[in-house]
Amino acid sequence: MRLKVGIPRALLYYYYYPMWKGFFTALGAEVIVSSRTTKDILDKGVKQAVDEACLPVKLFFGHVLDLKDRVDCLFIPRIVSVERKAYICPKFLGLPDMVRHNIPHLPPVIDVTVNMCRKEKNLYKAFGEAGKIFTGNPFSIRKAFKYGLEEQERFERLNRVGFLPHESIEKMNKGLVAQNCSPHQHGEMTLALIGHGYNIFDSYISMNLIGKLRDMGVRVVTADNLSGSIIEDRSNELPKRLFWSLGKRMIGSAFHFMRSDGIDGIIHVASFGCGPDSFTGEIIERHMRRRGSAPLLNLTIDEHTGEAGIVTRLEAFIDMIRWRRAAQ
Ligand code: SF4
Repeated sequence: MRLKVGIPRALLYYYYYPMWKGFFTALGAEVIVSSRTTKDILDKGVKQAVDEACLPVKLFFGHVLDLKDRVDCLFIPRIVSVERKAYICPKFLGLPDMVRHNIPHLPPVIDVTVNMCRKEKNLYKAFGEAGKIFTGNPFSIRKAFKYGLEEQERFERLNRVGFLPHESIEKMNKGLVAQNCSPHQHGEMTLALIGHGYNIFDSYISMNLIGKLRDMGVRVVTADNLSGSIIEDRSNELPKRLFWSLGKRMIGSAFHFMRSDGIDGIIHVASFGCGPDSFTGEIIERHMRRRGSAPLLNLTIDEHTGEAGIVTRLEAFIDMIRWRRAAQ
């Protein structure tokens, strides 16, 4: 019987799911993803998580609860760093421990450590360890790892042609590749959405921000549509190198979009309770004010955010861009 591996549809799911899925399926496992976020999933997560946790971490707990009784094991890696000389938010480091200590009766947790800060090769070390749960054959593990990386590359290629990560995952599930499909690229104006993937692509938590913008005639672009080198180059414009991968991604993409001709405005989405978001938001705002470029809207979301308030702010922002264009 195939072992069922549960992957919560939250946090780094929106960045690395294709690689994880590719790796586990190549080893003969069945990958089960938690359901799409609902009020029930969020409420359960908020109740189970520690009060001090940020909204995306609370939501992660809800997704673990949704999965735990229908899988043989859960994949919750301990992620320290995803690239050389940079770290990820410390919440990811403690995630498997937080989940274990707050949710009783969990199936076994695959909590391998991913730390690429010193050596990128350490990624294989983590997957090699996870692979041993499924097979004793190092050749099969290496092959599965390679397949996972290829799937991740396919995913990133789809993102770069203009799909958003949740759309790319859907396309890949249907077996499509970048060459034979085209993204949603029309709209009366283009706005860049800057925020963590786990906030902006979860339609419940973001109150369907992307859907609402598209209904208002907006084409949405995000950091995922840019290559890693653009993000790296732009973020290097700061006097000091940023050593936080997710913050660098947001700042690098914001700096790129704020000087791109086709971009009419930028929306920065932050989570309530997120320390890194408060400083990235501040840096982006200061730079945009100094350069006097595209207008910026700052949105902060939490479990109590009202949909009506978000819609009003979006409508006002879009109207302001239209007036600005008319005046020009
Ligand atoms: S970066 Fe912010 S939102 Fe993301 S896990 Fe860390 S504290 Fe939470």
